Amino acid sequence: MNSLWNVAQASEFGGDPVSLRVYTSRLLGRDPSLVLHGGGNTSVKTSVVNLFGESEEILYIKGSGGDLATITEKGFAPVRLDVLTKMARLKQLTDTEMVRMQRAAMIDSYAPNPSVEAILHAVIPFRYVDHTHADAVVATSNTPAGEDLIREIYGPRVLVIPYVMPGFLLARAVYEQTRNIDWSLYEGIVLLGHGIFTFADDARESYERMICLVKLAEEYIEAHAISTASTPSSQQPFDSKKLAALRLAVSKTKGAPMIARLDDGPDALSYSNLQNLPAIAGQGPLTPDHIIRTKRVPVIVGGDVTLSVETYASEYKAYFDRHSPGGLEMLDAAPRWAVWPGQGTVAFGRSTPDSNIVSDIVRHTLRAQQWSQALGGWKALPEKDLFEMEYWELEQAKLKKGGASPVLQGRVAVVTGAASGIGKAAAQALLAQGAAVAALDINPGESRDGMLAIQCDMTKRDQIAYAMKQTVRAFGGIDIVVSNAGTFPPSLAIGQMDPDVWQKSIEINLSSHEYLLQAALPYLELGWEPSVVIVGSKNVPAPGPGVSAYSVAKAGLNQLARVAALEWAGKGIRVNTVHPNAVFDTGIWTQEVLEKRAAHYGLTIQEYKTNNLLRVEVTSHDVASVICALAGPLFGRTTGAQIPIDGGNERVI
Ligand code: ZN
Repeated sequence: MNSLWNVAQASEFGGDPVSLRVYTSRLLGRDPSLVLHGGGNTSVKTSVVNLFGESEEILYIKGSGGDLATITEKGFAPVRLDVLTKMARLKQLTDTEMVRMQRAAMIDSYAPNPSVEAILHAVIPFRYVDHTHADAVVATSNTPAGEDLIREIYGPRVLVIPYVMPGFLLARAVYEQTRNIDWSLYEGIVLLGHGIFTFADDARESYERMICLVKLAEEYIEAHAISTASTPSSQQPFDSKKLAALRLAVSKTKGAPMIARLDDGPDALSYSNLQNLPAIAGQGPLTPDHIIRTKRVPVIVGGDVTLSVETYASEYKAYFDRHSPGGLEMLDAAPRWAVWPGQGTVAFGRSTPDSNIVSDIVRHTLRAQQWSQALGGWKALPEKDLFEMEYWELEQAKLKKGGASPVLQGRVAVVTGAASGIGKAAAQALLAQGAAVAALDINPGESRDGMLAIQCDMTKRDQIAYAMKQTVRAFGGIDIVVSNAGTFPPSLAIGQMDPDVWQKSIEINLSSHEYLLQAALPYLELGWEPSVVIVGSKNVPAPGPGVSAYSVAKAGLNQLARVAALEWAGKGIRVNTVHPNAVFDTGIWTQEVLEKRAAHYGLTIQEYKTNNLLRVEVTSHDVASVICALAGPLFGRTTGAQIPIDGGNERVI
């Protein structure tokens, strides 16, 4: 851990106190071993002249749930300092009152809600206050001799405060314990089981005190915890079906589809093989505010995943019953992460960003827990304290930001031929509606958040099987298959048919779809409201001369879809077909093909493009919208359907 302060960068932020606060907050946010995803908070106290020309002392405090790594001045809530310090002196204050009073004391009503630790920041009599949940500090304090170790590391430089629930109670405790102290003797406060504060009148000094204090804890761990005999990491072959079954069990318990992300890196793997895993994993999170993301403990995956998740859920209910004071509604009982012996860890979330957040927190948690083990034993906060944090309304409010979730959120889709035309449009539309997408193509595009590009020749069964496994590894399962890959062979009359043209069309436009359906079936059986959409063609109901190689393959594909609908209905898997026609923004419609087909019908290209009853152009986006609808709940009671998307065609009607 080293200071990232850079004189040139700092000067770009200008000299005013709030800009420097933005700069050092981002420096803290940049290091995930200090703060993770919305963790930690920072503040600065400064004078502001209001509209009436009066000077007011204002605490700029990070907005609740905001992320230090990307914070801007707008991410800080400006609150009148005198109101906050008066609040610290109150004997009691409910959370609702605290939030209301803090909002009323803000000088900008559009700013976010102040962090739940705003009063504590106000109590500390320095201009800059920095607060993190540094891994090294919490790993040291979360041990049986934690307080002694902290004192051994820091001596009298820091004030040590036993764990108190964050918010008003903590601010009040710090206020009481610091009323008569000489603040100049201290560089920081360690909150046992929670994190660390540093402070100074100078932005750089406050930040660098944080770095310096955390570094001391890191050095202590390095000196005392390196000799841990690492568990032999026996890795079993990736069991993709078991992961899909685990994800389904977790999703059912949650009542909504979850993305599951496997981590089988060396740390996760050796953790999963720990001898005393239940004793370590079964205690609690690194710092209490992780609980809203990770729940108190993970599920440990046994031989029967459904049973593992059911047991977890009943233990969660018992935990709720043990601690609920009554009048609280139990949250869902689904785990947010799993330890899977011999395979690693799995993070669950309603979306890929959510599962990534959980995955990051888990990675830090298991590393810190093993440090603690080496320092005398991992010891999380008592269950009761963690329960209070999990059910604290101010923590839950952080999760409730944002509106309703998109219709396909948490679903996993596989799209073939996804790098161009209808496939590309379908992949983008599914992603926009909240699904995680595996985009298969022989020339794949770029992967991005929520979209995994996989190179796959759809005529090769082994490549398809590998792509299915990659999809499950990344997202946890497969719910939606859009079987789209196709080719438009050159027009040849039957008498002139080239055997290679014929064979290639049959292979890509027909057989490859059968390979895909077969490979996807075991995962679809474990999918959430599973659904297949086949991209057919108008040529099925209305073939044209010269395109036998294409039409015959597509007609065969149509029968394949109908048989699949019959065979799979009992498994709850829906299979529907779209029959697009004259979608000209796709790869197969080159200018040459367009000209030939238009000439064949004696039309101009523009006439040919709108040669349908409605006289409209049909785009790949139009087709993608129907594919999403067929895959989603709108068509949840429909299987075996064939939907034309062709602007209306007399021969089809
Ligand atoms: Zn904190």
